[in-house]
Amino acid sequence: MILILLGPPGAGKGTQAARIKERYQIAHLSTGDMLRGAIAAGTEVGKQAKSVMDAGKLVSDDIIVRLVEERTSAADCAKGYLLDGFPRTVAQAEALDELLQRKGQKIDAVIEFAVDDDALIERISGRYSCATCGAGYHDRFQKPKQEGVCDNCGSTEFSRRSDDHADAVRTRLAAYHEQTAPLLPYYRDKDALKTVDGMGEIDAVTDQIFKEIDG
Ligand code: ADP
Ligand code: ADP
Ligand code: ZN
Repeated sequence: MILILLGPPGAGKGTQAARIKERYQIAHLSTGDMLRGAIAAGTEVGKQAKSVMDAGKLVSDDIIVRLVEERTSAADCAKGYLLDGFPRTVAQAEALDELLQRKGQKIDAVIEFAVDDDALIERISGRYSCATCGAGYHDRFQKPKQEGVCDNCGSTEFSRRSDDHADAVRTRLAAYHEQTAPLLPYYRDKDALKTVDGMGEIDAVTDQIFKEIDG
C-alpha cells in the first residue's frame, strides 16, 4: 500500500502518520524527518538544507527526490509506505510517478487534510516532541498523560523545532499555497484524492482516514 498525506504545515500529518503506520504496518517516510536527520548527522545534504529549512522555504527538488528514491528502496518499504511531506511540488509528484512506474507500483490514496490557515499558527507554535522517541505533543491539544513524561517511552527530554517560529511558519504557509496546493487538482484528476476534515479532534480525523483507506 502506498499512501500520501497532503496538507499545510501543522495540519496533523505527522500525528496521523504514526497511527496509520501502526494500523497498516507500513513504513512512515517523512521528508522533513529525513532532512532533520541529515542535519543532525552533519551530511552534505544536511548542510545545504539547514538554512533553507530555517527560513521556511522548500529544499530543492533534486535533493528531495534523491532522498526519497533511496529511502523507498529500503527493505522496510517492500510492503508499502506512507509519504508525509512529499511530494510538495508538481515536479516532485512527476518524479514520484516516474519512480513508481519503473517499479510497477501505484499510489493507493492521497489524503488531503482540509484545515483553516488561522488554526495552523497555534498548532505549530504549541508543537513539541519527545527527544528520545520522536512522539509528537502539543501544549494544549495533545499533552502527555503525565506532565513532562513521554507516554510512549517515559523520557523526560523534549524538543521544539528551530523552524516552528512565526516568521518561518508564514513563509511555509505561503510555500504551501504557491507550490504544493497545485497537487490537489493534479491528484484529483487521477481520481486518487480523498479529503478529510483536519479541523476535528485528533481521534475523529483518524476515524475519517481509516474509513477512506478501507473504502
Ligand atoms: P504536520 O505534520 O502536518 O506539520 P503535526 O502532526 O505535527 O502536523 O501537528 C501539529 C501540532 O498540532 C502538533 O503539536 C499536534 O499535536 C497538534 N495536532 C495535530 N492534529 C491535531 C488536531 N486534529 N487538533 C488539534 N491539534 C492537533
Ligand atoms: P511541516 O509539515 O511542519 O511543514 P516538515 O517536517 O514536513 O514540516 O518539513 C520541514 C521543512 O523541510 C520544510 O519547511 C522544507 O524546508 C523541508 N522539506 C520537507 N519536505 C520537503 C519536500 N518534499 N520538498 C522540499 N522541502 C521539503
Ligand atoms: Zn518518547
